[in-house]
Amino acid sequence: MKIRLGARLRRVLLIPLGAVLASVLFSCLMPPRVLPKVVHFSKAPVLRVLLLKDVEQTDVTLEGAFKIIDASQPERPAVQGEAFGARKLSLTADGFAFGNLGVKLQNALLIPAEGQAVSLEGTAYRGRFLFVRRETGFDVLNLVDLESYLCGVLGAEMPLSWPDEALRAQAIAARSYAVYKLNFSKDRDYDVYADTRSQVYRGLAAETARARELVASTSGLLVTADGEIFCSYFHSTCGGETVPAAFIFGEEPSPELDGVRCGFCKDSKYFKPWSYRIDRQELAQKLAAAGKNIGPQIEAAWVEEPIRASNVHRVLKLQGTAGQTEFHPYVFRRTIFSKLKSPAYTVRLEGSEVVFEGVGFGHNVGLCQYGAAGLAREGHAAEDIIGHFYPGTRVTSAY
Ligand SMILES: [Zn+2]
Repeated sequence: MKIRLGARLRRVLLIPLGAVLASVLFSCLMPPRVLPKVVHFSKAPVLRVLLLKDVEQTDVTLEGAFKIIDASQPERPAVQGEAFGARKLSLTADGFAFGNLGVKLQNALLIPAEGQAVSLEGTAYRGRFLFVRRETGFDVLNLVDLESYLCGVLGAEMPLSWPDEALRAQAIAARSYAVYKLNFSKDRDYDVYADTRSQVYRGLAAETARARELVASTSGLLVTADGEIFCSYFHSTCGGETVPAAFIFGEEPSPELDGVRCGFCKDSKYFKPWSYRIDRQELAQKLAAAGKNIGPQIEAAWVEEPIRASNVHRVLKLQGTAGQTEFHPYVFRRTIFSKLKSPAYTVRLEGSEVVFEGVGFGHNVGLCQYGAAGLAREGHAAEDIIGHFYPGTRVTSAY
């Protein structure tokens, strides 16, 4: 695997920390060390998906034979059995207890018999399971090949009733995102979360024959910019124009994530303007609770510096009876008023309330999913959809 410290990365490192903090949940910049060139694998790489973190116990079901080895010392003899069944898993003083089966292992790797799925708390997954001991509990990771992982992501991230080419574009974007994360997680115990902090993964619960067919039709395909893997963000609905990742996530500006006109997402209910209201005193209290005390009541509210033709502005300003404060609109949505559906909004006062009006759903960066569906219905292929939302990129094969 070739990696290099690119000029783009060096510029990324110059971004003030405060700007990066806006991206706690969705950022691909956590932590940026190197930007990989296109990666070629001999086959689909294995991804480490964090399913549970620091839990005291969980339910594991496996119908069939199994093997448990110490992931830290694979040369040690394995614990084997012919029928695993349903077991309660918990920690012991020196290892794990799988029901009445105690194993003295720090990191237990459960290997099911060929073709057998493992269920965790009622949801079945392909691949192997790794249980990692922590100070008070343990983490549960699913080790699964990338293509099987995507079969459990595609239908969880986009309705499988949508047009084929939109789903193929989604599969390519999701694969690229996962490979990007894979390259930045070498010093972590996992590559991706199983929820919106990365992308939603529901294992076999989301996997259908249609999902498998669509993923297989894009097998190994990635989207790259100048031969490099980048963070192929996607979101539900942009409402007319996507927004630069540089603004939302504090990244270095890049052509492929600079924002484009869309307007193909008209079928989304969030293409139409939405509005949310909050009492002027209640908002002042929320601000005070967040350490931004500007008095007991909001006296004025406005946005400044529109970004091109989108409804996103660079600054939200709030004037209270005892001071003024300002927010990045995305940070405000994430930390103060989570009802807002996107960072694309304006604000005004009306009587005793502060009224936010906006469009879109999500962070509005990268591929607009409803827009992808709109383009597919107009006859565009997945590669064209990718090219529209990530300008100047190419779809290439990684294996
Ligand atoms: Zn759109």
